[in-house]
Amino acid sequence: MSYISFEDVCKDYPAGNTVVHASDHVNFQIEKGEFCVVLGPSGAGKTTVLNLLGGMDKATSGRIIVGDKEITGLRSPQLTEYRRHDVGFVFQFYNLMPNLTALENVELAQQVCERALDPREVLEQVGLGQRMNNFPAQLSGGEQQRVSIARALCKNPALLLCDEPTGALDSKTGEQVLDLLTRLCHDYSTTVVIITHEMAVVKEICDRVAVMEHGRVVEQGEVFNVFADPRQEITRSFIHTTSNLRKIEELIAEDSPVVKLNPGELIVRLSYIQRNVSEPLISTVSRKFDIVLNIIFSDIAIVQNAPIGGTVAIISGEREQITQAIAYLSEKNVGVEVIKDARVSE
Ligand code: ADP
Ligand code: MG
Repeated sequence: MSYISFEDVCKDYPAGNTVVHASDHVNFQIEKGEFCVVLGPSGAGKTTVLNLLGGMDKATSGRIIVGDKEITGLRSPQLTEYRRHDVGFVFQFYNLMPNLTALENVELAQQVCERALDPREVLEQVGLGQRMNNFPAQLSGGEQQRVSIARALCKNPALLLCDEPTGALDSKTGEQVLDLLTRLCHDYSTTVVIITHEMAVVKEICDRVAVMEHGRVVEQGEVFNVFADPRQEITRSFIHTTSNLRKIEELIAEDSPVVKLNPGELIVRLSYIQRNVSEPLISTVSRKFDIVLNIIFSDIAIVQNAPIGGTVAIISGEREQITQAIAYLSEKNVGVEVIKDARVSE
């Protein structure tokens, strides 16, 4: 049984004389301690899912389970308890009280939660030890978001929900804030569900991904697997890596000079879609089989510490050697597709 489970969750909002299916039979699972990212275009239903999970909104139908609690079945005092004790929230626009200092903002969390951590200590951990007595207006955007992270983590919640936490920050500050968030959540073993468009960060820190479109989860799984082999067009639009390698077909259709072959040569697409591939394989193969691999283009990203993506190359050499090289690459878990072959025709 997973830690978080959405079972056929629907949320309808009235819109004039019709309804919007903001969540449309959503099913997904998250394990304890995982970092899960929700991807999707604006209006896809990401915030709705987060609000339902955090008990800030009520599902129209379906069940949401978190640990041993069925959130969809909780009534008022238990629901308030759940929101106060079990869940931390971080929003795009910080939601700090402007008339309270950084410290007082974090102390608010302490007041509603008995097992809260020491607010001063948490502020130290987010790097604001020296700015505790500043008011939000005296802090930069990144610092204000750190205060809001401190406020959320001060409750030591089992679950942290972050709705575009870097949406209002420049990308460098955003990365720093997310780095901090990752580090602290790993330290506290917090389960995190985050909505973000920072793909570099997603590739590095997230374990699981759910891709949403029109209120539905259209694709989900481990980040590595989904990124290595995205099934949906919408997922591909977020992950450029693998789709770039498709451009070779366009070049061939256009009869581009780049893809002109001499007799005996062939074009292959090598794709890294399994975890146990190491990058220097190309040079190994060219040495080992005495063939030339002329890279046309390459698009490799490191996702969860393993390369994903691939390379399109022209191979030339002895016919038998090329065959052996291809077999060797396949054995090493590299996907090999022959795109154009001048060994037989031309
Ligand atoms: P996202 O976070 O992916 O941009 P949302 O979850 O905010 O998407 O919204 C999903 C859909 O539900 C949108 O069409 C939005 O207009 C609608 N919606 C969200 N909240 C409300 C609400 N309180 N009342 C009416 N419609 C809403
Ligand atoms: Mg949103």
